Amino acid sequence: MFVDSHCHLGFPELAARMPEIRQAMEQAQVDRALCICTTLEEFDEVHALALAHDNFWSTVGVHPDNEGVREPTLADLLSRAALPRVVAIGETGLDYYRLNGRRVEDMAWQRERFRVHIRAASVTGLPLVIHTRSASEDTLAVLKDEGRASVRGVFHCFTETRAVAREALDLGFMISFSGILTFRNAHELHEVARFVPLDRCLIETDSPYLAPVPFRGKTNQPAWVAHVAARLAELKELPLEAVAKATSDNFENLFTRTLHTSATLGEPV
Ligand SMILES: [Zn+2]
Ligand SMILES: [Zn+2]
Repeated sequence: MFVDSHCHLGFPELAARMPEIRQAMEQAQVDRALCICTTLEEFDEVHALALAHDNFWSTVGVHPDNEGVREPTLADLLSRAALPRVVAIGETGLDYYRLNGRRVEDMAWQRERFRVHIRAASVTGLPLVIHTRSASEDTLAVLKDEGRASVRGVFHCFTETRAVAREALDLGFMISFSGILTFRNAHELHEVARFVPLDRCLIETDSPYLAPVPFRGKTNQPAWVAHVAARLAELKELPLEAVAKATSDNFENLFTRTLHTSATLGEPV
């Protein structure tokens, strides 16, 4: 019924609890999950989850916050993107939230890393999973400059304004809502959720982070994406089933269909 479009099941606190996590998913009718890669070092472990379970898929990418890790080349991304069950490039993007005393001008390395990911998406035809925090203007500018309308994907864990959502939608991207949507004081985000058309919405947990109400502060898990769906349904004044179906269909259109249509991506599932 539900899909968690963004979770970090390769992280040790979740990987160690896999049978329990999968059982909770089943009970909550969360049928599928996309396991997100954040470093090349982590890729094999994330990818192994997708190979081991027929309702998990994986991405390949290096998160903008990760420093002191292997810097991905285009070839690094392409070789991994060609493996079975790898359905997206990311998570990638820009994050100026923790500059640690640096200026935005000093973050050219982050913008270059983002460009390499956009090129990989362009070459493979795979969607991009975009992370943007305190950097929406540059994120959109780099995307327009490098992507030239040839890439699509999702702005994950969306916390930006309605104007940014409008631009992302105009570029053909989807918007993914996380547990933040369930927070009572997230008024601006509630407005964004009402604004984004249902056929462009995804839901996610970003596990282990950002557990939704009533689990706020706990270690998040894919089963709890149902609470994000419930809040989205409430905000849009729609039945829960309609939101569940639409977000699942959107997920399939964006991610899994790629696997069926591209000859370069290994065995179809
Ligand atoms: Zn992120
Ligand atoms: Zn993430």
